[in-house]
Amino acid sequence: MNAILQCAKFGEPTDGAEIYVTDFPCLQCTKMLLQAGIKKIYYLRNYHNDPYAMSLIEKKHVTLTHVELDAEAIERASVDAYLAGH
Ligand SMILES: [Zn+2]
Repeated sequence: MNAILQCAKFGEPTDGAEIYVTDFPCLQCTKMLLQAGIKKIYYLRNYHNDPYAMSLIEKKHVTLTHVELDAEAIERASVDAYLAGH
């Protein structure tokens, strides 16, 4: 919700945009994202996934992607960042 409102405030178009969120959006947020014209949703965690929200996303042909984080890749990236800082 905040991300969309910030876009509205600063005149950044959301129509056709992609969004990255940590948790599966609730029904109200899903409706808002669809109204804002979001075309791709990437989310990290399944969180009380609302079946009605899922059906709305499907009906609007919005791409829904569950992002899988690779723990080893994160570890390597943080070690690299640590070494780069020394
Ligand atoms: Zn929500």
